[in-house]
Amino acid sequence: MNRADPTDATTLMITTVRPDAVMVHGEGSWLVDDRGRRYLDFVQGWAVNALGHAPAEIARALAEQSARLLTPSPAFHNAPQLALADRLTRAAGLERVFFCSTGAEANEGAIKLARKWGRLHRGGAHRIVTTEGAFHGRTLATMAASGKPGWDDLFPPVVPGFVRVPFGDLEATADAIDDDTVAVMLEPIQGEGGVVVPPAGTLRALRELTRERGVLLILDEVQTGMGRTGELFAHQHEDAQPDILTLGKGLGGGVPLAAMLASEAVSCFDVGDQGGTFAGNPLMCAVGLAVVERLTEPDFLAGVRRRAEHLHTGLAALAKRRGCLELRGQGMLLALRLPRESAREVAAAGLRHGLLINAPRTDTLRFMPALTVSVEEIDEMLRRLDAAFEEAL
Ligand SMILES: *Cc1c(COP(=O)(O)O)cnc(C)c1O
Repeated sequence: MNRADPTDATTLMITTVRPDAVMVHGEGSWLVDDRGRRYLDFVQGWAVNALGHAPAEIARALAEQSARLLTPSPAFHNAPQLALADRLTRAAGLERVFFCSTGAEANEGAIKLARKWGRLHRGGAHRIVTTEGAFHGRTLATMAASGKPGWDDLFPPVVPGFVRVPFGDLEATADAIDDDTVAVMLEPIQGEGGVVVPPAGTLRALRELTRERGVLLILDEVQTGMGRTGELFAHQHEDAQPDILTLGKGLGGGVPLAAMLASEAVSCFDVGDQGGTFAGNPLMCAVGLAVVERLTEPDFLAGVRRRAEHLHTGLAALAKRRGCLELRGQGMLLALRLPRESAREVAAAGLRHGLLINAPRTDTLRFMPALTVSVEEIDEMLRRLDAAFEEAL
């Protein structure tokens, strides 16, 4: 590729491997590249486009808000931020929210808030119990909170203050909590870790454990939140209300928007403790508001659950036919464990068949379609996936 070529990628820092295609257009569950090839998208910007590509309500929110006010600076209130704060805090049953741009930033804020709370209310306790296989983001502190193999050696020194236990292990979690501990932090389902679902009742039990021991429960719902698992928040399946809740990805429906919510008792930031140039900017909050309004329409989540069931049934049949070892996940966040370490090959074959699926592990395929994906699109995905299996296995 040369510099005059609009598809020249040699000026980008190499942080990921990408196919040659340049994506130019999207509509619902379909993505179109610069050569006009159409892809059925079951990645959706990494579980980001909750309403699919280019949904009308987001286009409208962006057009109307951008013509009115992009940002007055975070030093002033703006109407979309206030409206979204009201909707989100009510929906989550938590009293306070801080808006930011990325999931990592929301989690970084959660860590800061917990440490401050520990300083004020738990004798200076600051340690956070996190889980092996977790993914909380790519800032230094959120990398330290994550449990991704190999990450501890990447950018030393590692931010201190985190201790890891096996995901879903109640006994190990209880043992890890001591006087220095301020919180337990985890994802309801580990997304990047490969859609790892803890034993039923784990969140509930962790809620009780943390309450008994006087430490906070931080739930990272950046991936599982905003309807992804069939409820607005995954913790609602087990009625396990956290003290701090982080959201991102689907909240913005495709634009950078994230949030850190907390109960009144835990919301102990003082003026100057937390902020950000784009924190709560009206353009992104107007989009978040459009997303939340759609997701909280009376029948929306029931429809998601119905179509997720259809996806689950179809994948289960395919899994049986193709000798897959496990189908796991919840709602529109599912993963298939393959009989061999061939997930990358199947995903690559899928791409050739116009299907976008993700391989978070060498033996695992992940499915995270738009919450609005249709039954017909699910059936078409299953046909293309079968063809990809045929080619790759
Ligand atoms: C994606 C993700 C993050 C990080 O979000 P960014 O917006 O990429 O910073 C954090 N936690 C979970 C569970 C995620 O899936």
